[in-house]
Amino acid sequence: RPRKRFGQHFLVDHQIIERLVRAIAPRPGERLLEIGPGEGVLTRPLLAAGAAVTAVELDRDLASSLADRLGQPPRLDIVQGDILATDVVALAGDQALRVVGNLPYNISTPILFHLFDHLAAIGDMHFMLQKEVIDRLVADPGGREYGRLSVMASFFCEMNWLFDVPPEAFRPPPKVVSAIVRLRPKSLSEAELQVLPALDAVVRQAFGQRRKTLRNSLRGLLDSPSIEAAGVDPGTRPERLSLQEFLQLALTTR
Ligand code: SAM
Repeated sequence: RPRKRFGQHFLVDHQIIERLVRAIAPRPGERLLEIGPGEGVLTRPLLAAGAAVTAVELDRDLASSLADRLGQPPRLDIVQGDILATDVVALAGDQALRVVGNLPYNISTPILFHLFDHLAAIGDMHFMLQKEVIDRLVADPGGREYGRLSVMASFFCEMNWLFDVPPEAFRPPPKVVSAIVRLRPKSLSEAELQVLPALDAVVRQAFGQRRKTLRNSLRGLLDSPSIEAAGVDPGTRPERLSLQEFLQLALTTR
C-alpha cells in the first residue's frame, strides 16, 4: 500500500522504466546512488546492467524488504534513512556516484539543493520529477518559471529535459505530469566556488520579493550605485537577470 506522506508513486509502465534505464545507460563497475528505490522497479535493471547500487530508502518496510524482493542480489547496498540527512560525499568513496531516482515530489526541490551541496562526489544525475519542477530547472530569464532554482541549478549543472511521463505510468497516478531530467555537474573553478555564498545570498534576497525591483529587494545587501557598478539596472526585476548578471552582483557585494 503506497504511503502518501512518503510521496510514494510507484512506476508500473515497463516501457517508461526501460526508456529511463536506457537514458541512464549504467555500466559494469559504476556505482549508482538510487534515491527512494521503493519496490525496486528501477533498482533491478540497474543491477542487471552490472552496476553497483546504493539505495537510500526512508520507508522502513520497503527498505527491509527490498533485498528479498530482488532476490538478494550482489552489488546492492541498502541504507534505510532520509536522503536529506545523508552525506553523499561519504557514500561515494573514491568513485564518482551517478545519482538516479523517481523522487518523492513533496521534497524534490530540497533534494536537488542537498545534492548541489555534494556535487564534488557526483558524476551525473537522472531524475523523474514533476514536469513543473523541470520547467523551473531549465527556465531561461524572463518567464514566470525562472527563479532561485533555475539560477542556482544553472550555476552548478548543465541540464537536459529528456522526456515527459504521463500520470498513468504510476500507481497511484500523481495529479501532475512528470518528466525525466539529466543534470551534469559543471567543473567549477576555485574562484567560482568562492563566489557561491555571495551568489546564494543575492539570489535568495532578490527572489524573496520577486515582484520588487532590485533597488528595493536588495536593500541592505547592495545599494543602487553598487548594482549599477555591477552593470545591472537597479530598476529591473530579478526574473530578467541572467546567471552572469547575478554573478556580477555577487562579486560586487564583497
Ligand atoms: N523508485 C520507486 C519507483 O519508481 O517505483 C519509488 C518512487 S516513489 C515516487 C519515491 C520513493 O522515495 C518512495 O519509495 C519513498 O518511500 C521514498 N522516499 C520518500 N522520502 C524519502 C527520503 N527523504 N529519503 C529517501 N527516500 C525517500
